[in-house]
Amino acid sequence: MHNAAFAAAGIDAEYVIAEIDEPDVAPAVAAARWPEYLGLGVTAPYKPLVASLVDEVEGDARTIGAVNNVVRTDGGRLIGFNTDAPGFRVGIELAMGRPLDGAEVVVGGAGGAAHAVVFACLTAGARRVTIANRTVTTATRLLERFAGVGTAERAAMPLDGPDVIDALQTADVAVNATTIGMVDPRAPFDVQVLPSDATVFDLVYVPAETPLVAAARARGLRAANGSEMLIAQAAIAFERWTGVGGMAHVMRAAVAPLLADPAVRA
Ligand code: NAP
Repeated sequence: MHNAAFAAAGIDAEYVIAEIDEPDVAPAVAAARWPEYLGLGVTAPYKPLVASLVDEVEGDARTIGAVNNVVRTDGGRLIGFNTDAPGFRVGIELAMGRPLDGAEVVVGGAGGAAHAVVFACLTAGARRVTIANRTVTTATRLLERFAGVGTAERAAMPLDGPDVIDALQTADVAVNATTIGMVDPRAPFDVQVLPSDATVFDLVYVPAETPLVAAARARGLRAANGSEMLIAQAAIAFERWTGVGGMAHVMRAAVAPLLADPAVRA
């Protein structure tokens, strides 16, 4: 995605993937101070750690507690920011066909991605946000973290308990921010209990049609996987690094064959 965008923008740069162990994260971040670097992308599980290694963390990323991108300024300072939250907002509003404002949202999961999702829902003016997670204490902590954000009603509950059925029955949107569907072929929610005009959004994008998305479509609900969020968050980061916007279509075209390839597994 990024290299296609560099080529399309005529920028002589390369996005390089490195799988590194935890002791090597600090040296890798420090190396990004060299003038050759535009910045860094960061993925799980190092998003909170990188937040502690940069010179400045932007407000939203600080509230979310995760940095998924870093930009290097001309003076060599490293600024951490978060594009998962705005990327989610682009993806979900595309899937819903309308803004999140006033929506009742059920979010499955309370990990790193769920933090960005819940923050986006709260700041976009959602009316009610319910967090359902296997480990309820993690969901409760997430809510405590965002106590001062937005005005939505909010609740935390177990993912497989009766309360989540009640929440789903009146939801406008059900979001999967767990790894269910990526690592095991099942859906985190029973889509049968959702209203007929609800939207289902799965952050998982490999496989392209997750069990949750397949079940939602079989019921005739609006449903989307996480590919548009992936593309949107990447395009936002690209613009921060290069000043060149409008690259989502290039990135979408570059990533489409990979996401459609049944041989590609997370
Ligand atoms: P994470 O921090 O490891 O969180 C994992 C979440 O999944 C936790 O809520 C965990 O619950 C839950 N979970 C894991 N296994 C489970 C199981 N067997 N049953 C029930 N719940 C289970 O991961 P993450 O970084 O938030 O990522 C979550 C998903 O979002 C991944 O599939 C990732 O690929 C996707 N994602 C997509 C995008 C995008 O751009 N589309 C961006 C970021 C992430 P516990 O708290 O109980 O462990």
